Amino acid sequence: NQHPDHRPCAQLGGAMALRSRAHASHKGSYGDVAVIGGEGLYLRGMGMGGAAVLAATAALHHGAGRVMLALLDEGACQLLPQQPELMLRQVSALHWDQGVVVCGCGGGQAVAAVLPQALEQAHRLVLDADALNAIATDSALQHLLASRAHIGLHTILTPHPLEAARLLGSDTTAVQADRLQAAHQLSQQTSSTVVLKGSGSIIASPHQLPCINGSGNALLATAGTGDVLAGMVGAAWAQGLPPHTAAQWAVWRHGHLAEQWPAGQALTAGALARCS
Ligand code: AMP
Ligand code: MG
Repeated sequence: NQHPDHRPCAQLGGAMALRSRAHASHKGSYGDVAVIGGEGLYLRGMGMGGAAVLAATAALHHGAGRVMLALLDEGACQLLPQQPELMLRQVSALHWDQGVVVCGCGGGQAVAAVLPQALEQAHRLVLDADALNAIATDSALQHLLASRAHIGLHTILTPHPLEAARLLGSDTTAVQADRLQAAHQLSQQTSSTVVLKGSGSIIASPHQLPCINGSGNALLATAGTGDVLAGMVGAAWAQGLPPHTAAQWAVWRHGHLAEQWPAGQALTAGALARCS
């Protein structure tokens, strides 16, 4: 197994995904991001519905033209602290061929039920967290994921080391011992762009040199920052960057925002999602 060659992530510049806006452009010029997640366990006084809101908020603040939020339990809608710019949708009303679909941020068990449709129909799909965990335990979903590239559908996976280990049938020690190889292998196995998160995030895509991101710091080691990253990836991709570049840009920018964080202040995912 040859060790893949790699290069450092390009420092693509803060404004790159925020395309210069022509006078006559409109919101349709900057792409749609639809975030699916937020299982309504809120109704029982627990749950991670906020993760989908974090991803959607980050997509808004990084220039996506329109951001839709499809919550997996309609009842949760009234209880979530929404931003008014977010458009609430039912999963059944999503247009899978338009824009980017981000799936799995705080989706809980319910995300498994929408994955077959998302994997079969979403033209551009970002999979995170609960979507990755559901795929790791279901060979039919693994087959659907690996088939996407053959029919012209594109996928970006954003696992942290444990999620990557589950997908590889490995463990975090092995993933962390050779992160470049793990990202490369997962990219090959799934025919997807892979962002292997953690200090020195790796971006690997089929037929591209993988790269290692140099920005970021341990302020990001707090709940919800991964959901923010998924939304940023979605926004950059929706605005027209190709998937490998969109992932690189978002990872670099996410880390850069943490480096600019005011000294002595804790970083929270909610505040990070509102930065651009
Ligand atoms: P998650 O594990 O899904 O919550 O995502 C955490 C996010 O924060 C990922 O983008 C990680 O790369 C980033 N992150 C966490 N800890 C660090 C660290 N020590 N240095 C740089 N980035 C980090
Ligand atoms: Mg996460």
